[in-house]
Amino acid sequence: MAHFPHTDVTRETCLRADQADPLRKYRDQFALPDDVIYLDGNSLGARPKAAAARAADVVEREWGTDLIASWNTNQWFNLPVRIGTKVGQLIGGSGGQCVVTDTTSVNVFKALAAALRLQESDRPGRRVILSERENFPTDLYMIEGLISFLGDVDGRSYELRLIDDVRELRETLLASGDEVAAVLLTHVNYRSGAMWAMNEVTAAVHEAGALMIWDLCHSAGAVPVDLDAAGADFAVGCTYKYLNGGPGSPAFIWAAARHLPRIEQPLSGWWGHAKPFEMSVSFDPAEGAKRLLVGTQPIISLATAEIGIDLALSVDQAAHREKSLGLTTLFIDLVESRLASHPLTLVTPRDEASRGSHVSFRHPEGYAVMKALIADGVIGDYREPEILRFGFAPLYNSFTDVWDAVEALRLVLDEERWRAPGFQHRDAVT
Ligand SMILES: *Cc1c(COP(=O)(O)O)cnc(C)c1O
Repeated sequence: MAHFPHTDVTRETCLRADQADPLRKYRDQFALPDDVIYLDGNSLGARPKAAAARAADVVEREWGTDLIASWNTNQWFNLPVRIGTKVGQLIGGSGGQCVVTDTTSVNVFKALAAALRLQESDRPGRRVILSERENFPTDLYMIEGLISFLGDVDGRSYELRLIDDVRELRETLLASGDEVAAVLLTHVNYRSGAMWAMNEVTAAVHEAGALMIWDLCHSAGAVPVDLDAAGADFAVGCTYKYLNGGPGSPAFIWAAARHLPRIEQPLSGWWGHAKPFEMSVSFDPAEGAKRLLVGTQPIISLATAEIGIDLALSVDQAAHREKSLGLTTLFIDLVESRLASHPLTLVTPRDEASRGSHVSFRHPEGYAVMKALIADGVIGDYREPEILRFGFAPLYNSFTDVWDAVEALRLVLDEERWRAPGFQHRDAVT
């Protein structure tokens, strides 16, 4: 029972909701310290217990004993495709459209370059790339880098235009849609938790003749996604956030089946070759999503990523979304009712249909408040400016976690614990 009336909620109510939670059994699949409430799965997912044994097996048996034969006998060579197929099942597509490889940043580069190339042959002369001002910076940096690298193409260089919201996106597409080559948006915003309406936006972008690239870093394993149903052209995303793949585990890149045979991406390394071991002098792209690969893969990271992805695949998506919304709505309600005397401003949409799986509040002392909260065992994170971010992972967070986290935050604020000097100092990673 994820949604319950939030007036007069007590810790008891939360305990009862946990007992009735159909996803409750998943908590035991994760290793988390007992004295911690982990609300940062949107940045680094928790460790599935099985990941340790899998990593040990890859290191000791596959690497240590089987050595180089493992590329064949332990299927190392096929790992990016095998795991990519699983991610594809989660985000849409009938298979063969997705590989797990490289970083999201690198995959943004490949997807955008491939999209621009397709457009230049189908609808030449379009030179605008649209994205959002609030996008995660690396996406914008990668666009900038590609634009500057491409330079003048037939006398005109590409140009990045930034929009702020769906209204501005629609206006821009109406006014100058025939100049737009590709649109790159992050489905769930890393800071605000706001979620784009994927189907409607993709349709509007297509109507203007542009290609749609979705960044799913805060969506995969967090909210239901069906890229094929939306008609998306490309997608990228992380596996180390809600997919619990492990620190720095490889990202994914997905392409619509209709584009795959024609896709050319500029990082044409040997792993993307049709026959890499023929050691041929010239590049001939592999069939399907394999052509999105570049070079030798981080096998140990891929192996642990598969554990988290398997877990995500085993979950009922509707129940997962229901619980995610139950947790985020409860958190918003409790903060607003129990912490009303403090200067906290909700940044995340109140409308559930426009919300991912994390909640952000602004507080003028946000950084120090988060550090004080972490010292008390509630781990969220901080993002500029002044934003406290709390990720809710339905697989291992409970309704009681929400209650306890809000109480911990109340103590930090009521007792002004954040004023302690140690909490003012900025670490390199916030
Ligand atoms: C987390 C995140 C990234 C991270 O990119 P890396 O290349 O894996 O460091 C990129 N884009 C978005 C939207 C993210 O949320």
